[in-house]
Amino acid sequence: MIPAKFDYVAPATVEEALAALAEAGDDAKVIAGGQSLLPVLRMRLNAPELVVDLGKIEALRGVRDDGDAIVVGAMTTHADVLHDPLVRENAFVITKAVEQLADPQVRHRGTFGGALAHADPAGDLGAPALALDAEFVIAGPGGTRTVPAVDFFVDLFATAVEEGELLTEVRIPKRAGWGAHYEKFVRVAHQWPIVAVAAAVQVQDGTIREARVGLTNMGSTPLRARSVEAALVGQPATDDAVRAAAASAAEGTNPPSDLNGDADYRRHLATVLTRRAVLAAAGS
Ligand SMILES: Cc1cc2nc3c(=O)[nH]c(=O)nc-3n(C[C@H](O)[C@H](O)[C@H](O)COP(=O)(O)OP(=O)(O)OC[C@H]3O[C@@H](n4cnc5c(N)ncnc54)[C@H](O)[C@@H]3O)c2cc1C
Repeated sequence: MIPAKFDYVAPATVEEALAALAEAGDDAKVIAGGQSLLPVLRMRLNAPELVVDLGKIEALRGVRDDGDAIVVGAMTTHADVLHDPLVRENAFVITKAVEQLADPQVRHRGTFGGALAHADPAGDLGAPALALDAEFVIAGPGGTRTVPAVDFFVDLFATAVEEGELLTEVRIPKRAGWGAHYEKFVRVAHQWPIVAVAAAVQVQDGTIREARVGLTNMGSTPLRARSVEAALVGQPATDDAVRAAAASAAEGTNPPSDLNGDADYRRHLATVLTRRAVLAAAGS
C-alpha cells in the first residue's frame, strides 16, 4: 500500500528538528533508517502529517570516546556500529548483537537509535543496553536529559522519549574487569530473536562480584533478570553455580506465545541462554 500523504523536512541540526517537531505537535513522526517506520506508514498503521528525516544531521552519526564512556550517535547505522573499533573494544556484546541483527541490507540503513527508539520487544539491542547499564540522551524543547536503560523501555513500542523529543545518543560506560556476552536463539538465519540474553559480569578471583542480565522477547519490553543477578553475586563462576542461578531467569516475565514457540518454551530458553551467556561472559 502507498502511505497517506505527508509533508517532509530534512533538517541539518537537532535544533531545527526539534523546532519542526514542536510546530507539528502530535502530527509529526521522526524517520531514521526507515526500516520499521516505512512498513508502518505503508500499512497505514500511522499517518503523520509531517515526517522529520534525521538523515542529514551529521552530529547524530558516529561513535566517540568520551573518557569513561563510549557514545554512539542515534543515527549511526547498524553496519557502522558493527565495524566500529571503539564498540568492539569497549562493548563487544553490542558488536555480537548487531552482527546477528537482521541482514546486511537492513544493517546498512537501520540505525542504532532508531532500533532502540522503536522498542520492539524482540529487538536485539535492548538487552545489551540493559546489561551494559547504558544511558540514553534525549533532547527536547527544554534541553537534554539522560535516562538509564532500566527506565528507557516503558511498554510495547513505547520509550521514555516523549512527543517533541529525540533520542540523540547512547552512552555506554567503560567497565574494566567486566566480561559480557550475547546469546540469541533463532530457527533460521537473519530472524528476530525468539529469545535472547545479554549478560555482563564482574569476576574477581573466580567469584562473581556483580552481574547484569538483560532478556529479549520475554515480555512487552526488554527486561532485567533481577533474581538471576542477585543469585549470581558471591557465587563461583562455575557451570553448577551459574546453572542454579539461571534457573530463575523467567521469574517475573510474561513471554509471548506465537508460531516460533509458546510461552513455556521461551521460559525454558531463557534459563538455557542465561546460563550460556553468563558462563561466556565470565570466561568460563
Ligand atoms: C527485514 C527486517 C528484519 C529485521 N530484523 C531485525 C532483527 O533481527 N533484530 C532487530 O533488532 N531488528 C531487526 N529489524 C529492525 C531494524 O533493527 C530497524 O533498523 C529498526 O527497528 C529501526 O531502525 P530505523 O533506523 O530504520 O528506524 P525507523 O524505522 O526510521 O524508525 C523507527 C521508529 O523509531 C522512531 N525513531 C527513529 N529514530 C529516532 C530518534 N533518534 N529519536 C526518537 N525516535 C526515533 C521513529 O519515529 C519510528 O517510530 C529488522 C527490520 C527489517 C526490515
